[in-house]
Amino acid sequence: RVFNFSPGPAALPESVLRRAAEEMLDWHGTGVSVMEMSHRSPAFQSIYEQAEADLRELLAVPPNYRILFMQGGAIAENALVPMNLLGDKRGADYIVTGAWSNKSQKEARRYCEVNIAASTEASGFNTVPAMQDWQLSADPAYLFVCTNETIDGVEFGFDPDLREIGRGEVPVVADVSSHILSRKVDVSRYGVLFGGAQKNIGPAGLTIVIVREDLLGRAHKDCPTAFDYKLVADNNSMYNTPPTYAIYIAGLVFQWLRAHGGVESIEGINREKAARLYDFIDQSAFYENRVDPRYRSRMNVPFFLADESLNAAFLAQSAAAGLVQLKGHKSVGGMRASIYNAMPLAGVEALVDFMRDFERRNG
Ligand code: PLP
Repeated sequence: RVFNFSPGPAALPESVLRRAAEEMLDWHGTGVSVMEMSHRSPAFQSIYEQAEADLRELLAVPPNYRILFMQGGAIAENALVPMNLLGDKRGADYIVTGAWSNKSQKEARRYCEVNIAASTEASGFNTVPAMQDWQLSADPAYLFVCTNETIDGVEFGFDPDLREIGRGEVPVVADVSSHILSRKVDVSRYGVLFGGAQKNIGPAGLTIVIVREDLLGRAHKDCPTAFDYKLVADNNSMYNTPPTYAIYIAGLVFQWLRAHGGVESIEGINREKAARLYDFIDQSAFYENRVDPRYRSRMNVPFFLADESLNAAFLAQSAAAGLVQLKGHKSVGGMRASIYNAMPLAGVEALVDFMRDFERRNG
């Protein structure tokens, strides 16, 4: 296997894939694959309950929050959040820190009034605006943030506490698609956390939504029933058939993470991985990262070659060295290394070694 720096769907722990392969034809003596099980069978119910319990433990999700296993991806949530949370309010507030939160606020405009409480678009999405400068509207249904901007490489290093700006009553909604489970999070600071699974959790097709119970039951009458958070919660994510195989793989990833010491332990490794890469980039005049160092993402590291005419050679030679999917997003250009939980430190070391060697040969 190669070191896969894909932003998503992304690398999964090899041991998880091996175990899934071993269990593919016959899960625990049932004689069937998990793919072939009824979602209501006792076998699948046990898989589901274990996955839910493990995720709750890993993220220390308080008892007054429900964990929903949904479909539609994070992009569907951009519509489902206003549909579920607006209630009798007219609008919501958005902090725009990159391509993904920008997409979220645009989608929300189809369903409600949108107030941009802060944006870093003018400076090229390279930082997180100070909370003291967030201009919340008078009575928003929620405040939306994307706490890790996968494309721009900008990460909130904190869980926003709106009490600090006197607005503790406003629920914070966070798109955590690309850094969930990579660092400790204080779930109690949020009303809703959501994310697609295909980066740090498992295969595409599964969307995790963690919602505070008092926010359930506000869905708009036009919200599809399959996406009404309350209905999904009341039916333990089985109102319709959930993405059973993706939930099973996610459950194996949760077990893998628990066996490796949980979120606190992986956070230490992620900090080390990111530091190795950023430290190398910063000491080099050949490579550059343009994000405010205080808000650099530990998961997605965009970087540029000073001489962009070398981009194609960099990509071809890195791939030949077994380091794949390093091309930056088309809207940003350059390179991007996504170093999620399943990327070992050895993968980052191999990348840094390659970058050093490439610089020596071309600098
Ligand atoms: N939000 C963020 C932060 C993402 O990284 C992605 C990645 O693809 C999305 C939303 C879109 O998610 P999906 O394709 O699962 O709808």
